[in-house]
Amino acid sequence: MARKIIVTSALPYANGPIHIGHLVEYLQTDIWVRFHKMCGNQCLYFCADDTHGTPIMISARAAGISPEKMIEQMHKEHVADFDSFYIEFDNYYTTHSPENKYLSELIFSRLNEAGSIIKRDVEQTYCEVCKMSLPDRFVRGTCPRCKAEDQYGDSCEVCSATYEPRELINPYCATCGTPPALKTSQHYFFKLADYEQKLRELITGGHTQKSVANKLDEWFKAGLKDWDISRDGPYFGFKIPGEEDKYFYVWLDAPIGYIASAKNYCDKISLDFEQLWNGSQYELYHFIGKDIMYFHALFWPAMLMGAGFKTANKLFVHGFLTVNGEKMSKSRGTFINAKTYLKHLDPEFLRYYYASKLTDGIDDIDLSTEDFINKTNADLVGKFANLASRSGPMLVEKLDARLGQLDQRGAELINKLTAERQNIIDNYENLKLAGAVRTISALADEANRYVEQNQPWTTVKTDLEKTRTTLTAVINAVRILTIYLKPILPKYAEKVERFLNVGQLNFRDLEMRLENHKINVFERLFERIDRRQVDAMMEESKQTQSAKPAPVQAPSSEAFKPECSIEDFGKIDLRIAKVLKADKVEGADKLLRLELDVGGPRKTCLAAIAQAYSPEELTNRTVIYFANLKPRQMKFGLSEGMILAVGTGGKDVHILTADPGVKPGQKVL
Ligand SMILES: [Zn+2]
Ligand SMILES: [Zn+2]
Repeated sequence: MARKIIVTSALPYANGPIHIGHLVEYLQTDIWVRFHKMCGNQCLYFCADDTHGTPIMISARAAGISPEKMIEQMHKEHVADFDSFYIEFDNYYTTHSPENKYLSELIFSRLNEAGSIIKRDVEQTYCEVCKMSLPDRFVRGTCPRCKAEDQYGDSCEVCSATYEPRELINPYCATCGTPPALKTSQHYFFKLADYEQKLRELITGGHTQKSVANKLDEWFKAGLKDWDISRDGPYFGFKIPGEEDKYFYVWLDAPIGYIASAKNYCDKISLDFEQLWNGSQYELYHFIGKDIMYFHALFWPAMLMGAGFKTANKLFVHGFLTVNGEKMSKSRGTFINAKTYLKHLDPEFLRYYYASKLTDGIDDIDLSTEDFINKTNADLVGKFANLASRSGPMLVEKLDARLGQLDQRGAELINKLTAERQNIIDNYENLKLAGAVRTISALADEANRYVEQNQPWTTVKTDLEKTRTTLTAVINAVRILTIYLKPILPKYAEKVERFLNVGQLNFRDLEMRLENHKINVFERLFERIDRRQVDAMMEESKQTQSAKPAPVQAPSSEAFKPECSIEDFGKIDLRIAKVLKADKVEGADKLLRLELDVGGPRKTCLAAIAQAYSPEELTNRTVIYFANLKPRQMKFGLSEGMILAVGTGGKDVHILTADPGVKPGQKVL
């Protein structure tokens, strides 16, 4: 029997464009939704822009437009980006909507009646010039612990201390620079701890993945705290009923936006919303990133329970995207907007690449540009498109575009392909997309081997009917592989459907064979990626974004690497070195060639520090030298060892040095 399923992705914030990090989630969700639709299930995919809060208000002010205008523009951009990546929502709405206002007030009043809301005085930082209370991230100042200047109001990026904004030394408003005042105000709090028992039951009942449950357990142990759900005006959001100048905190009404999007959808097509959202016919799944687990695994289900709404069947949590093993970075050109990507590359390349990496876990996935190019060219071009282009044109040109019948060997190949059906379907269902891709790719190898063995390009000269039989098997293989790939590659599948002259392919079509059938003219499916396209995309990402400050960013605290022994450390030979000479490198604007005195023969080392240091700044500097690193032959010469530095690259590079008194060649212990 067909299942009825509702699926949501986290709502993107209407303060900036969609980038390739966001796309991990929307592509993962879209693939899952398309898979269910292809199984014959009714699957509805709801999402919306998350439009409220101080950052939106401030961005709109800075742009000289109203917040309403700003979120309207951003909505258009987001929709266009999602469309371009073939992400197909059943409804893409906004949290700034009458439905969301109604539902937020409803849920709030029900929580209030249930005794889950209390009022309490809080002391908050307020800017007299901006005439607004300042969220933690909008106050900056000197860290009370390590005295680093220009730190956020809630944590220090230098020493990782966490504190209250009022503990900062010399605090100032991040927007206008004025020292803020302290003001007492009454806020509304949601008593999360009242729901601890029910939440624990929900989580142990398999509400989310094991690794997520473990993290939640830490939070339970630390104790659930009351949650401040109100903000003082001016604020862009929904006013709290009965209040003059207090608003719901954006995080209260954002997830309610899922329900509001569903309600808007139901009203548009006259469906019974109560039945759809709160009835038992529909299963409900939320897809989110691991950065918002606290909100979605604790606050959100507690709010729903308290207000008499049902909770999701499951919360699917995924990891972050890294590019070439590191956090996305504007200076490296790896912070790539959806729009920039689209100027250079086919969206289905990214859909396929992410699918080939995604599992049901919460580990980060890495986009290695090298691997991305190789995999696209090897799999999409070399395996899937190749199979079609080796059979389609020949059939059309030499054999009146007509398929014959499968012989025994052909039938064997096709049976091998369909035998993996359940395996592939299970992998899709359980979000093991990488597993599905691996299997499909191995089956394509099988089909390509069949072509090699039967050599249609040779037999076509002597035996047309034998060739027709061979190509009939190949075309059937193309059809089956396309069904398997269709959730990931919808556009590719559309082209294949046209060329095979068949209707929309679904999983139930796997058992059917295409025989004595006329196909259409072949159209090209994929073009190879050239490295220069990727380079150009990254170069453009640097240009468009390097100057923009990022007002709201999570503090970077990278986890430590696994433990190692002092013996492990002993393998690394670190020495004091003195820079004798530093030179620019012709043709490589990021590199400097350093000549180093390390106590013995001079060493030459190529370092990617030219954007942060001029050659003059480096001459005579003392540096730390990694002496026994295997020398590397680069395009610009041999690089021996390396010097130690901190930073994310580009201008953000800081060389490590030593206190006076050290001599070149001395060992670092
Ligand atoms: Zn500090
Ligand atoms: Zn201010």
